[in-house]
Amino acid sequence: MKKSYDWIVIGGGFKSMVAAYALASKGFSILLLENGKSLGGFMAPIRWGDFWIDKGPQFFDNFSEEDKNFIVEMVGENVLEDIGFAYASYLNGTKTDGFAIPDWRAKGEGFSNKIFADIIQRRLNSSGPPAHFETFDDVLLYDGGEVLVDEFRQMTRKFLRTEAKNLSPHANRMVTYLGRKLLFDQDISVDLKKSPIIDGFLAAQKKGVSETRYNLYPRGSNLETVRIAMEKALKTAGVDVLLNNSLLSVDADTKSCSFNDGSANYGSLFFGCDAREAEKLLFATQTLLDQTQMLPEIFHCFTVPRKSMDEAYYLVDYDPSHLSTRMTNFSNYMNAYDDEDYGIFCVEQAIERDDADWVTPDRMQGRIFEEARETGNVTCDHFKSAKSFRIPVTYKVPLTGFVDANDHLLSKVTEKFGSDVVIPNSLSLTRKETLDDLRMLEIL
Ligand SMILES: Cc1cc2nc3c(=O)[nH]c(=O)nc-3n(C[C@H](O)[C@H](O)[C@H](O)COP(=O)(O)OP(=O)(O)OC[C@H]3O[C@@H](n4cnc5c(N)ncnc54)[C@H](O)[C@@H]3O)c2cc1C
Repeated sequence: MKKSYDWIVIGGGFKSMVAAYALASKGFSILLLENGKSLGGFMAPIRWGDFWIDKGPQFFDNFSEEDKNFIVEMVGENVLEDIGFAYASYLNGTKTDGFAIPDWRAKGEGFSNKIFADIIQRRLNSSGPPAHFETFDDVLLYDGGEVLVDEFRQMTRKFLRTEAKNLSPHANRMVTYLGRKLLFDQDISVDLKKSPIIDGFLAAQKKGVSETRYNLYPRGSNLETVRIAMEKALKTAGVDVLLNNSLLSVDADTKSCSFNDGSANYGSLFFGCDAREAEKLLFATQTLLDQTQMLPEIFHCFTVPRKSMDEAYYLVDYDPSHLSTRMTNFSNYMNAYDDEDYGIFCVEQAIERDDADWVTPDRMQGRIFEEARETGNVTCDHFKSAKSFRIPVTYKVPLTGFVDANDHLLSKVTEKFGSDVVIPNSLSLTRKETLDDLRMLEIL
């Protein structure tokens, strides 16, 4: 370890590893601090007997050619492959292949027409989009109008476990029911979408994977292979990594910081751990955390004959009476099946920590399995084995005061540290958004 580094990166998840690698590739000296015992963060899979299970469908999706080239340069040629996009959704007793968004036709033709007429009417009556949304509920009303707003509120309760009026408008990143709407059959939709106004809100099936968007996944494996490849890339790039280390203090005047195993001077600090953690480390306050709904989920995993599983990578379950939010068919894309051709699918259940199911997650397995049968995601009558895993934090959903608290934090950081401390966009969710943000910060 050196006495001084151009950059000290705090955190060892995807974001930090990419930032550290990109900065090291530009010739900077880097120290990366990870407070866990291994790198990878949320990429680290769950072990169930001989199976490795990723925490939900963890794709490198919507990657552009540029994104793909970057990640391939980092992890090597043969680690990732493009698996294309294959989703399904379930609403009102109907499974729809090819879409992860709700298929409103399931509620009857009249309902789709009503939505369509309502959106057109509202477009004609408005003089443009509203300048400002106060809460997520305003977004739901704008996007769904009177016809859909109650459906959306119910979905918000189910997927994010809180009322839409408590959430920041930016919670829209965490849900899949807003935006373009599936209302009509493919031919009609394609025809209608010729009008630019209608194209903006109507969905139609993508004709295969577009040339410039990739859905990358480890070739016949799980994210552990990517994690290992990224770790190797950091080593080759000369990044010093300290595991089991967190930042303990920062002195802005001497530009030095201390951590569990020592101290070092820095040129700049990059907080890849999370803005909430950065606030705690730098100012010993938690205003961002207070404005965040940390969403726990139970991952119910089942083994079933592989041939009884639907072909989609995952199915989003919009039925408000179901506990299941998403069903991921791992054996369709990461070779998660055994010698007898039994494969794994995993059902996510969004939950609160004071819910009785959180304490004894296994007791819902029977009901969850029946839901999977009802949606058509599996066709067999029984599962061979099942296990329910508790994941204490999945999505970090912003509450109404989040953006103000974030702006306040960033101005306090600038006041105290100038541009020496970099906190990436705390609202970016996906790996694609992380890469875009790192480009904005001129790190990538
Ligand atoms: C169910 C689910 C499915 C998802 N599916 C997708 C998908 O298909 N595609 C996609 O692009 N994204 C997906 N995401 C989002 C994706 O998981 C995140 O973008 C990604 O995990 C974020 O990586 P990160 O490095 O920012 O954070 P993390 O992976 O959480 O890493 C943060 C790291 O910082 C470390 N750390 C924390 N505090 C400190 C400290 N004080 N000192 C040192 N180290 C510290 C942690 O130990 C951890 O290793 C999904 C998310 C969920 C919840």
